Amino acid sequence: MAASPVTTRFAPSPTGFLHLGHAHSALLAWRAAREAGGRFLLRIEDIDRARCRPEYTAAILEDLAWIGLDWDGPVRVQSEHFPAYRAVLDGLSRRGLLYPCFCTRAEIAREVAAIGAAPHGPDGPLYPGTCRRLPAELRAARLAAGDSYALRLDMAGALAAVGEPLFFEERGEGRLRCDPASFGDVVLARKDTPASYHLCVTHDDALQGVTLVTRGEDLKAATSLHRLLQALMDWPAPAYRHHPLLRGPDGRRLAKRDGAVAIRAMRAEGLDAAAVRSAAAGGG
Ligand code: GLU
Repeated sequence: MAASPVTTRFAPSPTGFLHLGHAHSALLAWRAAREAGGRFLLRIEDIDRARCRPEYTAAILEDLAWIGLDWDGPVRVQSEHFPAYRAVLDGLSRRGLLYPCFCTRAEIAREVAAIGAAPHGPDGPLYPGTCRRLPAELRAARLAAGDSYALRLDMAGALAAVGEPLFFEERGEGRLRCDPASFGDVVLARKDTPASYHLCVTHDDALQGVTLVTRGEDLKAATSLHRLLQALMDWPAPAYRHHPLLRGPDGRRLAKRDGAVAIRAMRAEGLDAAAVRSAAAGGG
């Protein structure tokens, strides 16, 4: 069978019930696939075991089906694939592109405060590189002592390994230049979570053959980092479409805290699926 020209996906994190904003995102991805005769995949991004709940996963699938979305193939559940993400981390470690970081949040905050005007990236102040400069014997001693650590990308090393400026294709805007350095030495595996969102999302988009990533504009900055990981790993680069976030009547973006916009709450109030779907499409 010939590969379909378009594969899109919806990749929610099951930290709460599906709300209109998610449904909007899901609908855009679903439509982009269906209108092109392509594939629409559903992926559950539940690597953060402290915040994600299986009951939310079940509810998300039910709510998507209720508004009439169907997906192709089995649902990929990230928490079932930690060894695959580990293998990517091991590969980057072997290339000398990761280092263990033992710093606590408080230690980092203190150091950032001491620097004064520490540079900021999309996720806040950049890590000052303390553990990158740790003498080898000290690092070895802390590892031997079993101290817990996160794994950080050595950004300068990663940029040197790629060696050329990176771009991504944003539908409707064209080729945009990436700025991965703005993330600094980003965490790719946290102390309490064996792999980060950035690593898992790029790994899975490549593995699943996603050709068009549609997601909210709040994730547009992260695409620079995702392109860097794709380039480092020789993964193909999908095209992107970052859509405006659905906003409430007050102009604020919809969030999980606005319980009233949960799809199940609307269903419980007796709204029919077509009306909810139309609201999710942006039709009021
Ligand atoms: N799992 C992410 C979220 O729920 C979305 C990831 C993506 O679409 O790239 O915010």
